[in-house]
Amino acid sequence: MAKIFSGIKPTGVVTLGNYLGAMKQFVELQEEHEAFYCVVDLHSITVQLDRVELMDNTRKLAALYLACGLDPEKSTIFVQSEVKAHAQLGWMLTCIAGMGELSRMTQYKDKSQNSENIGAGLFVYPTLMAADILLYGTELVPVGDDQKQHVELTRDLAERFNKRYYETFTIPEPLIQKEGARIMSLTNPVKKMSKSDANAKGFISMLDEPNVIRKKIKSAVTDSSGVISFDRENKPGISNLLEIYSLSTDTPIAELVERYKDSNYGTFKQDVAEAVVAMLEPIQNRYHELVDSAELDAILDAGREKAEAVANKNLAKIEKAMGLNRKR
Ligand code: ATP
Ligand code: MG
Repeated sequence: MAKIFSGIKPTGVVTLGNYLGAMKQFVELQEEHEAFYCVVDLHSITVQLDRVELMDNTRKLAALYLACGLDPEKSTIFVQSEVKAHAQLGWMLTCIAGMGELSRMTQYKDKSQNSENIGAGLFVYPTLMAADILLYGTELVPVGDDQKQHVELTRDLAERFNKRYYETFTIPEPLIQKEGARIMSLTNPVKKMSKSDANAKGFISMLDEPNVIRKKIKSAVTDSSGVISFDRENKPGISNLLEIYSLSTDTPIAELVERYKDSNYGTFKQDVAEAVVAMLEPIQNRYHELVDSAELDAILDAGREKAEAVANKNLAKIEKAMGLNRKR
């Protein structure tokens, strides 16, 4: 049994990419491991968000966690800002991180592009993420491919801390799936699908209505060869749809390629859309029951208490290692 931690930012409504790349794994992992799953709202404020929108997004994400199958009896589900130790350890780790290593983070480079006023929070974001992970003695971090670099930085910071002070932190490892780790944008299939994409046609939100999903997949960018085959480099659009279809129906990609070898893109896209709609339907139904319920609040209150107990105990040890205590 391993200790697991992961989180998703409530910057928008989670996408099919977040689900296939991360959340689906969360659900599988809770069966055999001790898992902490967090709505990482402190990471959301690295970009400017309307306060009501942020509150709504936080509830929506928590409800979707549950609707996708996270079970509060099996894992600890909570909101990051409610457990104050995250921000505290985040600062402590910021102090041992270097400007150079933070500047090399590709997410920072991507997200700060074309932005005149880059927030300092965006720059130190990975140190807060390291705190989230290290606070729970985490061994495995299930994430999409794009977060690999941040988990590597977390490992570096943990090793540095252990060497400089005491052996305090467990060194975590990223857990990245073979398929689904990088679902691509529907409008630009060489860019990853992202919930904060300004163009909503690029992503499928987990809460999109069936007709919206059908429309988005129908207009997904493909190529002009007319052949349905899996080739990420030369046919990124079709390969992305094949991957989505495969994961939505638990069918190997090779089997789909064989099945659609004489079909056209129109028929193929229709079937992909129906597969996604069918997969999301029960999740959406459960979501609507939960999102405004008192049950959701009770689960998050209990999650906060469980997370806080572990986090505060570990934080006290980490503070002591650093000398943030009066008495020897
Ligand atoms: P944002 O644009 O706000 O960063 P995001 O869609 O990247 O939104 P995050 O909250 O940053 O979402 O990431 C949550 C989890 O989803 C992470 O584990 C991340 O690696 C994973 N993830 C994000 N996008 C994809 C994707 N396109 N395919 C697979 N996994 C993804
Ligand atoms: Mg992201």
